[in-house]
Amino acid sequence: MLQLKDAGLFRQRCYIDGKWTAGDAADEFDVINPSSGAKLGVMTGIGETGAKQAVDAAENASNIWRHMTARQRSRRLMRWHKLIMENQDDLAVIMTAEQGKPLLESKGEIAYSASFVEWFAEEAVRIYGDVIPSHERESRLIVLKEPVGVCAAITPWNFPSAMITRKAAPALAAGCSIIVKPASQTPFSATALAELSRRAGIPEGVFNVICGDSEKIGNVLTRNEKVRKFSFTGSTETGSKLMEQCAGSIKKISLELGGNAPFIVFDDADIDAAVAGAMASKYRNTGQTCVCANRILVQNGIYDEFSKKLLKAVQSLIVGDGFTENVTQGPLIDMNAVKKVESHIADAQSKGAEILTGGRRHSLGGTFFEPTVLADTTSDMKIFSEETFGPVAPLFKFDTEEEAVKMANDTQYGLASYFYSKDSARIWRVSEGLEYGMVGINTGIISAAAAPFGGMKQSGIGREGSKYGIDEYLEIKYLCMGNVYG
Ligand code: NAP
Repeated sequence: MLQLKDAGLFRQRCYIDGKWTAGDAADEFDVINPSSGAKLGVMTGIGETGAKQAVDAAENASNIWRHMTARQRSRRLMRWHKLIMENQDDLAVIMTAEQGKPLLESKGEIAYSASFVEWFAEEAVRIYGDVIPSHERESRLIVLKEPVGVCAAITPWNFPSAMITRKAAPALAAGCSIIVKPASQTPFSATALAELSRRAGIPEGVFNVICGDSEKIGNVLTRNEKVRKFSFTGSTETGSKLMEQCAGSIKKISLELGGNAPFIVFDDADIDAAVAGAMASKYRNTGQTCVCANRILVQNGIYDEFSKKLLKAVQSLIVGDGFTENVTQGPLIDMNAVKKVESHIADAQSKGAEILTGGRRHSLGGTFFEPTVLADTTSDMKIFSEETFGPVAPLFKFDTEEEAVKMANDTQYGLASYFYSKDSARIWRVSEGLEYGMVGINTGIISAAAAPFGGMKQSGIGREGSKYGIDEYLEIKYLCMGNVYG
């Protein structure tokens, strides 16, 4: 049993139209704690009929919510934010139990998740239209911003709370309703958010959480004509499929997909700072983030010093259950994740890479894996072109700045990138040369509610967070008033 101060936050049912829905026994599924392998709970699921009911409820609610004033919506979002922060400890316990990340990281994610609700509560009252200087003396051109209507979102397990609020908060701020389908591995962070939305006074049907067979639910959310906006965070493969499904009803879409982040360390970098940045970027959430450094490119002159210092830092990581004090690395989410990590290491080793540390399943068993550093990795290895999504840092050597930028861009992905340098001219050249939606310069952590998060190339479409994030949930309506002088 989870030790919660408020047991009412642990909900094992879908939340549709303000009600906890029993669903269908055939769609129920077990949720497993990835650290212990024990059953954490049983989540109810719904099928296509239930998903359609959620869409209808969201449509009815949207017609009420959109006509409330921006200030009324903002106040409710502010209350939601306050409740999330007041319940930070319990929400973190639920997250660590279902996802495995260390409790401190879960607390951090809850604060990050709440920050999107606060940010968009503030944005809700600043959605301005425009008056455009007219091309004719007797006409006036006006732009209104209107909510797109019913929105739907499908989210992943690696950030079970923040990936939801990053979509739901701007949708609600804009005056839209939303249906969220969280990952099946982490539904309880989502239902806890739903319970707090209810307590915050967000009207019935405005924020809904549904679980069940992802293909069946995904079919409804992408194909139903009442859904006007679809937002997805997850793998590029699934995102591409869902994009195709949305095509039939020409929906507005946002896709936050996979990454293959380069982390470049130039000869002129502050090496200690670069090691600290690489650790934060690579090993947070046991390497299971879309913005994780996937390839560490190190200039020849400092390669030995950097790799020695990185190795020492990696060897100080503590693997274990996320509830144990001082643990910095939780388990991987499931056995498929372990197998993918193993396949990348085996492939690299077979092509000449050297394992400096780790490289194996951890003696704790289950899905725990040793934090790993690989030296002498090269661009013909899988680890260069595919997202590893695990605690493996491969070190690639390079000679020149041009070579580093070319290697960094040699991928279908374009989400996050990082580099360390003290040379201001190089900082501009490299920033402009990288084909990525986000560039961290002398830092390994780039995410914030105020910043536009998103990718280029096959890493996605659209931006989340920041002043740009709300545009994804708004339609522009142009009014042309003719003959204004009568
Ligand atoms: P995934 O397999 O694509 O799953 C993500 C979500 O999609 C889950 O809710 C899943 O539901 C659902 N889903 C899977 N197949 C579906 C289908 N055919 N129809 C409808 N829904 C479907 O990705 P993942 O392995 O969970 O997440 C890791 C990936 O997410 C990585 O590639 C990572 O880079 C990316 N990511 C990107 C960002 C970003 O902001 N760019 C942030 C975080 C993660 P079930 O769980 O029920 O199967």
